[in-house]
Amino acid sequence: MVHAILKFKYISTIVIVGGGICGLANQLGVASQLRQSAFPLKRWWNILIDEGKHQELILNYETHCLKRRDLLQILADALPPGTIRFGCQVLSVNLDTHTNYPTIQLCNGKSINAKVIIGCDGSRSMVADFLELGPPRMFALSSIRGLSSYSNGHQFPHEAIRMRRGNVVAARLPITDTLVYWFITQPLARSDAKLPHDPELIKRSAIESLDGFPSGFKELIDDCDVDLLFLNHLRYRAPWDLLVRRDQKGTVTVAGDAMHVMGPFLGQGGSASIEDAVVFARNLAQKMSPEDLHQCGKGKQKIIENAIDQYLKERRMRLVLLSTQTYLSGILLETVSKVRSSIINIIMRILFSDRTGHNKYDCRQL
Ligand SMILES: Cc1cc2nc3c(=O)[nH]c(=O)nc-3n(C[C@H](O)[C@H](O)[C@H](O)COP(=O)(O)OP(=O)(O)OC[C@H]3O[C@@H](n4cnc5c(N)ncnc54)[C@H](O)[C@@H]3O)c2cc1C
Repeated sequence: MVHAILKFKYISTIVIVGGGICGLANQLGVASQLRQSAFPLKRWWNILIDEGKHQELILNYETHCLKRRDLLQILADALPPGTIRFGCQVLSVNLDTHTNYPTIQLCNGKSINAKVIIGCDGSRSMVADFLELGPPRMFALSSIRGLSSYSNGHQFPHEAIRMRRGNVVAARLPITDTLVYWFITQPLARSDAKLPHDPELIKRSAIESLDGFPSGFKELIDDCDVDLLFLNHLRYRAPWDLLVRRDQKGTVTVAGDAMHVMGPFLGQGGSASIEDAVVFARNLAQKMSPEDLHQCGKGKQKIIENAIDQYLKERRMRLVLLSTQTYLSGILLETVSKVRSSIINIIMRILFSDRTGHNKYDCRQL
């Protein structure tokens, strides 16, 4: 667990809880470095495997697949000098009854008074609890993801491929000439209520779920590095909650998975977290002068609150649309009823006629 306080040139009192993608994504100029860490995948193949039919849909858009660890390292390297980082968990957030500004309690017994708190502490966010957002909902789906490395190079084309058979989706995305990322999404069996932590069991479950898929996929999983295998029960925030909810109390707000955890079906959760960081920082910088952060008082507090309010307004519809699309994709994977599937497919075709539309969003410059 990481807790970071970012000290910008003149901002010394913004506390960012969480050192994941969202928490670290407060720097610009990282995009060019990100592009150097992986080669571009120009095409997405979507393949539906069904008894008797094999449908292919090719989507032409550029994707970059990165190792999460590399992304976090690049973001951490880009943090400005003066950033204070604590390897310490936040236990709770409270409002100081005298100043009305928030304070956070750390696991080392210390507490920090802050002018602004942004909770980037993921889907089980402590800051979201303070905002009374309630726990995220659960899909009846799990996802296994892993990396397979080939010291002599792999033979896979520089393309992303996603295959679906029944309620199981398997995808493969080469990162470099020697490294391939893959994931499998499948319904959660009743017996899976307690998900296995043993990597060998996870690997076996991944291979078993690939019955009927081309053998190349099973071999890819056979070759994976068991230390880099992850199994998650998939969580989400409902789009209707995001539409009506208030993600702010005074000068405290949330971003990233803490605000909008979504199924990984579009691969947009992390990207949306980086967008949050850009929009949050832009609104803060536009609405406030350096003095506003250094001074107290009701007037200054109001200015910060307005900046956060503007950030949330700017993000709302983008997040509602993304979570609607991921929610419907998740429900589609969960359902066994053909009628229900057809209805969901029709709704998706009406609402998201451009299947790659979510990639064209521009959150604008910082
Ligand atoms: C299977 C799967 C595949 C995915 N694929 C993609 C993809 O292809 N593309 C994409 O863009 N997104 C993808 N995502 C989503 C992406 O991983 C998340 O949206 C992203 O990691 C969110 O970043 P975050 O910083 O908000 O949260 P997190 O990455 O969860 O980071 C939260 C951080 O907060 C810390 N923390 C938590 N509680 C506390 C506390 N109390 N005190 C201090 N620190 C705390 C944690 O230790 C962690 O460092 C995928 C997700 C899953 C599950």
